[in-house]
Amino acid sequence: MTNTTGTITLSLSPAWTVACCTGHEAGSGVAPHPSMPWSTSEDTPRTITAGTVKVLRVGTMHTACPYFRKAQRHELGANMYRGGDGPLHVSRGKTNHPLHQAFLQAARQAGYPFTEDMNGFQQEGFGWMDMTVHQGKRWSTACAYLHPVLSRPNLRAEVQTLVSRVLFEGTRAVGVEYIKDGQRHKAYVSREVILSGGAINSPQLLMLSGVGNADDLRKLDIPVVCHLPGVGQNLQDHLEVYVQQACTQPITLHSAQKPLRKVCIGLEWLWSYTGDGATAHLETGGFIRSRPGVPHPDIQFHFLPSQVIDHGRKPTQQEAYQVHVGTMRATSVGWLKLRSANPRDHPVIHPNYLSTETDVEDFRQCVRLSREIFAQEALAPFRGKELQPGSHVQSDKEIDAFVRAKADSAYHPSCTCKMGRSSDPTAVVDAQTKVIGVENLRVVDASIMPSVVSGNLNAPTVMIAEKAADIIKGHPALEDKNVPVYKPQTLDTQR
Ligand SMILES: Cc1cc2nc3c(=O)[nH]c(=O)nc-3n(C[C@H](O)[C@H](O)[C@H](O)COP(=O)(O)OP(=O)(O)OC[C@H]3O[C@@H](n4cnc5c(N)ncnc54)[C@H](O)[C@@H]3O)c2cc1C
Repeated sequence: MTNTTGTITLSLSPAWTVACCTGHEAGSGVAPHPSMPWSTSEDTPRTITAGTVKVLRVGTMHTACPYFRKAQRHELGANMYRGGDGPLHVSRGKTNHPLHQAFLQAARQAGYPFTEDMNGFQQEGFGWMDMTVHQGKRWSTACAYLHPVLSRPNLRAEVQTLVSRVLFEGTRAVGVEYIKDGQRHKAYVSREVILSGGAINSPQLLMLSGVGNADDLRKLDIPVVCHLPGVGQNLQDHLEVYVQQACTQPITLHSAQKPLRKVCIGLEWLWSYTGDGATAHLETGGFIRSRPGVPHPDIQFHFLPSQVIDHGRKPTQQEAYQVHVGTMRATSVGWLKLRSANPRDHPVIHPNYLSTETDVEDFRQCVRLSREIFAQEALAPFRGKELQPGSHVQSDKEIDAFVRAKADSAYHPSCTCKMGRSSDPTAVVDAQTKVIGVENLRVVDASIMPSVVSGNLNAPTVMIAEKAADIIKGHPALEDKNVPVYKPQTLDTQR
């Protein structure tokens, strides 16, 4: 947000900066993940077009691709699909780990193609993942976009700071109120307020500021600035389950999780940014179609040569490997609402996971197709017993029960301030990222996706922010003339 003296950037924590910003590319906040798999996902534009008819004008790959490229500095250099000189470093999985190699081979034996670049021409298939890792270190959007400009005189960054509401004069946003060290402060803008608090906080902040469903706001005694019922609705996410197999050889990351070994890994990383501390370990993965007739990959796999229990809170006790698998195009849609008018209270979040039969069936497919890959010859030298779901889980009913018990968020909440036409009663921002019904207020983050992308969310969020930056600065939109994308030879078969 700009104030009279320039631009200030507010954030909750120093490490994962940027909640609200302007003056440079917005949306630099990214989640605290050591080094996230980066997927641009060939159909990302679906997100932007669904129901909104080419809003943001990134309705096809040729309008999204230039912004993916603009953001990216890929270690393999530039081509039609990836950038070579952007601020965000991206590296390619390259481990020689035998389990990663065997997983890719097993996928091929199961009949899926190998794809050279799942973020390029061909998303469908299995291959090496891209990661936002640079010289062994996680390269966050804060590293890419914020840290290099921190010394600018027109930028002020505040950390350990909670934005509590947008300040309005009538329906015109004039600044924000924020809390720092227990004190409330106000920052006024000369131009616009831009919220980039993410898919949970941006709608929360709008509602705290009086922009949302008027009936709900009145119940909490929040003065209504604008009745915008779509705020907090349309919550979409990716769920995933882990299919886990014991490994008969002592080659997994099990030993790396022992205390002494962890110290050694940490020291090596601190010394040279190499070793097991220098990678996300999710170095292979893939995208496939769940069944015949589906035109585009709707299931994603990440392979890990280790077993994760309770998000890593419980250490694994054995040699094992797993895939994280989930559907990319869930039809279940949730919502979030304010719990109270206190900005420190977490909102009520109701994701409605697995509330449609389609999603339940798709997850059955996820489990069955994962098992099929794990059963291939290439993994025979390593294959122990199935740990999860376990061989006793076979029928539809048993698989459904397993999925309901074990499925977890892949941490991809999105779409809660969806972009759309002002005639769409559920739209929150317009094609220019401006909040509908008020002035001087934009949202730029994962919340403005109309529907969740078929891939990981970080790269599309950065792409949206790059595009929004051009819109905000009044620059002409970048467009490619022609960006070919892979189409399966036939949709009569699943692979
Ligand atoms: C644990 C985890 C792992 C993930 N792994 C991957 C992955 O491997 N690959 C991938 O592509 N995606 C991954 N994601 C998803 C990806 O990180 C998000 O989709 C992406 O960061 C969304 O960007 P955003 O700018 O919308 O929101 P965020 O990145 O959440 O940024 C919002 C920022 O606003 C700040 N903020 C929020 N509210 C306030 C407030 N009131 N006042 C001040 N500051 C505030 C937050 O601290 C944060 O810095 C992961 C997410 C999580 C949580």
